[in-house]
Amino acid sequence: MQVDVVVVGGGAMGSAAALSVARNGQSVVLLEQFEAGHHLGASHGATRNFNLAYSEPTYLEMVQEARTLWDELAAESGLQLLDLVGLVNHGRVDLLRGVHSAHRSLGISSEFLPAEEAEARWKGMRFRSEVLYVPSSGRVRADQALAALRLVAERLGARFCYSTPVRDIVVAGADSVVVVTDRTEYRARRVIVTAGAWSWKLLAGILPLPPLTVTQEQPAHFRLLEPDMARNWPSFNHAPEPGVPEDSYWYSPVYGMLTPGEGVKAGWHGVGPVVDPDRRNFLPEPAQLEALRRYAREWLPGVDPDACVPISCTYTSTATGNFILDRFGPVVVGAGFSGHGFKFTPAVGRVLADLADGTPAPALFAAAAN
Ligand SMILES: Cc1cc2nc3c(=O)[nH]c(=O)nc-3n(C[C@H](O)[C@H](O)[C@H](O)COP(=O)(O)OP(=O)(O)OC[C@H]3O[C@@H](n4cnc5c(N)ncnc54)[C@H](O)[C@@H]3O)c2cc1C
Repeated sequence: MQVDVVVVGGGAMGSAAALSVARNGQSVVLLEQFEAGHHLGASHGATRNFNLAYSEPTYLEMVQEARTLWDELAAESGLQLLDLVGLVNHGRVDLLRGVHSAHRSLGISSEFLPAEEAEARWKGMRFRSEVLYVPSSGRVRADQALAALRLVAERLGARFCYSTPVRDIVVAGADSVVVVTDRTEYRARRVIVTAGAWSWKLLAGILPLPPLTVTQEQPAHFRLLEPDMARNWPSFNHAPEPGVPEDSYWYSPVYGMLTPGEGVKAGWHGVGPVVDPDRRNFLPEPAQLEALRRYAREWLPGVDPDACVPISCTYTSTATGNFILDRFGPVVVGAGFSGHGFKFTPAVGRVLADLADGTPAPALFAAAAN
């Protein structure tokens, strides 16, 4: 079968790439190895942080573009995709000052609040440092986002094929590639590979990918003690202070948000056990879970630290923590989203579709730079 573009992987990034290619008027087929809505990768569940707390201009410009594209997609699909409940960042105020000045240079509103004022405002949380509050942040409705991307992409002619694993990718020329599945071979001008935790397995030997580490991450939803608190619970990032003994049990900074109907999600970032995505146990690592409960006990007075439901999900991380958005001949790759990609999804889709048409991505995302 002949198409303009084949997309490998039906998670957030593949779905967004398929939508952007379809918007450009090209024929596109997306191939996903598992069924629609599976929980075996990195894009499942109801919520992700939509967090503007970056100091790197490339990320700030990209999240601003993503905001515009999320709003457009919400209008086109009729689905609400963002809940802008605000985001509070605390700990490491020295780093937050850099975020705040980057915001000022790009006209993004954010303000520092004293810890006492923040505690009065958000009674379910405890603060020790000044808090950088970013009102135009909050949550992305992840499952709704996947549905909206597919809905609009298919409306524009894209084909989404589930339970269709790609077995091989054969580069046949500068503008020609063959994508092999059990039933069909697809011939295309470009293939966009957004295979998440499986990127290395699929692309090793085809293009020079930097090392990618796949970890099994395990945030958890904690039950709210007072359901009313759900009406005023911001998304949050909390960094430990170096050299402070009380923080010595932390595995990493903590991120979190409210998931309506499920509780407050909190998690360590990028420290889960290294896994082979095809040989996971989907079980929480007990010591990390116990430490997360302790975190909830000490810093989230609004939740029950003993009533939590762990989630299992994969991070695919580069050594730098930066994404890989690059092209090698007819093969475009989107990988290494390092646990912070979802908020950027529609903008990543646009960059990948542009790469397929020859427009380079920001230098920060070059494979050789990561
Ligand atoms: C616990 C957790 C919390 C997170 N929190 C946030 C957050 O708050 N904010 C934020 O911005 N980001 C967050 N992220 C990161 C974000 O969810 C990811 O960056 C994003 O979902 C990555 O999408 P993806 O499409 O690259 O990966 P995936 O969703 O894993 O998609 C890859 C797809 O490729 C398919 N595939 C692989 N190999 C093949 C093959 N051979 N043939 C066909 N299909 C194949 C897989 O089955 C999979 O469906 C979080 C991630 C996790 C795990």
